[in-house]
Amino acid sequence: MGYDNEKLNKIFDKTDGCCHICHKKLAFSNYGSYGSRGAWHVDHSKAKANGGTNHVNNLFPACVKCNLDKSTYHAKTARSWNNKSRAPYAAKKKQELKEVNTITAVTLCAIAGSAFGPVGTLVGGAIGGIIGNEISPKR
Ligand SMILES: [Zn+2]
Repeated sequence: MGYDNEKLNKIFDKTDGCCHICHKKLAFSNYGSYGSRGAWHVDHSKAKANGGTNHVNNLFPACVKCNLDKSTYHAKTARSWNNKSRAPYAAKKKQELKEVNTITAVTLCAIAGSAFGPVGTLVGGAIGGIIGNEISPKR
């Protein structure tokens, strides 16, 4: 296939090691190893037959089944078969979203708590922090 480890890593990390079509967790070491748990392929989001390139921007990790099912369909089409609208988030992106959720929840609960005075603000903020951490971004 001709992907070196560095490129494979880059592609794998784009979705935090999940199939970009069905969002199933993949096993990095089982790249191209048919029948193994978490076996995966590099999928051309835009199929080469449709003019897609070998640039990392066009490459996503996909489990073997999804990759074969997708064939030359568009990634969006294949994802819709799995009720997914987008590729999974990278780990870094997930962390960012989580932080935003926490900040939002802290602010909202602190505002709600402020109706009960300064103590309410503190208690509200603390509750918001807990709520925010519980909210993990939609995959
Ligand atoms: Zn898949």
